Amino acid sequence: MIETEVLIVGSGPAGASAALFLSRYGISTTVVTKYRWLADTPRAHIMNQRTMEILQDAGVAQEAMRDAVPNHLIGNSILCESLVGREIGRIKSWGAAPERLSEYRLNSPFEICDIPQNYLEPILIANAAKDGAQIKFSTEFLSLTQDDQGVTAQVRDRISGNQYPIRAKYLIGADGGRSRVASAIDLPMQGEMGLAGSVNILFKADLSSYVAHRPSALFWMLNPEARIGGLGVGLLRMVRPWNEWLCVWSYDISQPAPQLGEQDAVEIIHKILVFCLR
Ligand SMILES: Cc1cc2nc3c(=O)[nH]c(=O)nc-3n(C[C@H](O)[C@H](O)[C@H](O)COP(=O)(O)OP(=O)(O)OC[C@H]3O[C@@H](n4cnc5c(N)ncnc54)[C@H](O)[C@@H]3O)c2cc1C
Repeated sequence: MIETEVLIVGSGPAGASAALFLSRYGISTTVVTKYRWLADTPRAHIMNQRTMEILQDAGVAQEAMRDAVPNHLIGNSILCESLVGREIGRIKSWGAAPERLSEYRLNSPFEICDIPQNYLEPILIANAAKDGAQIKFSTEFLSLTQDDQGVTAQVRDRISGNQYPIRAKYLIGADGGRSRVASAIDLPMQGEMGLAGSVNILFKADLSSYVAHRPSALFWMLNPEARIGGLGVGLLRMVRPWNEWLCVWSYDISQPAPQLGEQDAVEIIHKILVFCLR
């Protein structure tokens, strides 16, 4: 039986930062996470000033800033018909509007910046591990039982297939939107689920000549033909300036999720690039 004070299920932003803070406080912590590594796609990215301050408290802000795209490269949201078409407008965003700049600057030593989740999670987890957290990859949470002294979780090593228990005083369910921890304790969920289906496609392409003069994290293409994939508006997100991108391809959520192969992805990217550059 492995014993720990706090068992964290999940190594996303919630689990990884809980592990980091608990380790900084010297609390024995074990993280179990289902996959063999951390996020492999960019997902959450805009870091507000308070988040940066919290990272500073945890001693990792400088490290995070090395991987961040700074405010002056994300401070516009571009509305256009396409990347080469008519530009409709630029909305100053993320604290970059001239009339708000001093307010933002006066209220924090940090600016809002952009750190994709697949860059941030390794920083959080590596620092938690340096401070003593045990990180168990490829380990799936299965079930739990609670008693007056704590909680016993059953987990499965996905490499060997072995199941074993972990005993903890506390368990943090940080296992995402489809949390098995939440269902294990019958935690009610509020709100409407399953509103839209979207496929996120990552690709590399040097688009500097279309975007570098109007730096932005998000390019919104308003165009009747943007209905590709049923989205109604084309969104291109910068992942790394200006050669790594994420585009969103939606699907009808009343139907099963499409099973896309490499060739489908290539065709969709081709359509999206034609759309962006027409
Ligand atoms: C494709 C995509 C794009 C996104 N884009 C954005 C964006 O642009 N901006 C934004 O703010 N947010 C975005 N998000 C949302 C953002 O990623 C989430 O809000 C955030 O990741 C939630 O963090 P979390 O730590 O709660 O859970 P998650 O990041 O979902 O982490 C869950 C963790 O639990 C683990 N886990 C799950 N089940 C088990 C189990 N049974 N046993 C063990 N481990 C388990 C997983 O491996 C993972 O480590 C996006 C999400 C996706 C999927």
